[in-house]
Amino acid sequence: MASKPRIAFFDFAGCEGDQLQVANLEERLLDLLEHVEVVNFREVMTERSDDYDIAFVEGSITTPADIDRIKGIRKRAKILVALGACATIGGVNCMKNFMDESVYRTHVYGPMARAYETIPARPVSAVVPVDAEIHGCPIDKEEFLRVTKELLLGRTPWLPDYPVCMECKAAGNICRYELGRPCLGIITRAGCGAVCVTEGAHCWGCRGLAPHANLDAAKYVMIDRGGFSRRQVQDLLRFYNGYTSAPL
Ligand code: SF4
Ligand code: SF4
Repeated sequence: MASKPRIAFFDFAGCEGDQLQVANLEERLLDLLEHVEVVNFREVMTERSDDYDIAFVEGSITTPADIDRIKGIRKRAKILVALGACATIGGVNCMKNFMDESVYRTHVYGPMARAYETIPARPVSAVVPVDAEIHGCPIDKEEFLRVTKELLLGRTPWLPDYPVCMECKAAGNICRYELGRPCLGIITRAGCGAVCVTEGAHCWGCRGLAPHANLDAAKYVMIDRGGFSRRQVQDLLRFYNGYTSAPL
């Protein structure tokens, strides 16, 4: 890799909120620019180059053209990083995988629906090898900086392998189950500081399943003990994790 690595950002199906998080680093982005050269970043610059070392890819793969494009990016990049929930786990786009194609086609494209090709949504890693993942919806700015730094140093980026509950407890929150509400923090990879629970909501699972998540225990907590129906649990799991085959 050159002394000043060239980095590029690309987007597929998604809201581009993860790239916005990077743009919102503001003065800290200037610190990053001392160590890298940005050659593609549609949200903040007009220049384009196909000569890059690290590709950050946001969004999920949802069309046949996406497959060709991500393979081209993979071929040119030395390191490919999936950025955000849509790219890492398929994210909210995967909800369409459980609908009749004619329904979402008509909702999205109206009378022009037949003109657009579509395939079931999937994360980037389902199509090409991915070297690192930055989870979340949106990503955490500090985690982006840390993971990028580790990649620039040639290290394998560290990711939490424990569930959101650990951070939730540390934040002093009352467990949603104590309040009769469901929460996916029990099986979701930590790293966000349990921000949604702290703000009064519950965890939707945007950081994907924690490694070795105990799905049998989760099923017991949610259905047998919590009293939520299988449909309620399935809907919650499919909000972000529709691509997973987690049998809850
Ligand atoms: S509220 Fe959710 S994240 Fe927090 S302890 Fe309960 S299940 Fe875990
Ligand atoms: S609490 Fe859950 S849904 Fe909210 S940011 Fe963290 S992992 Fe994502």
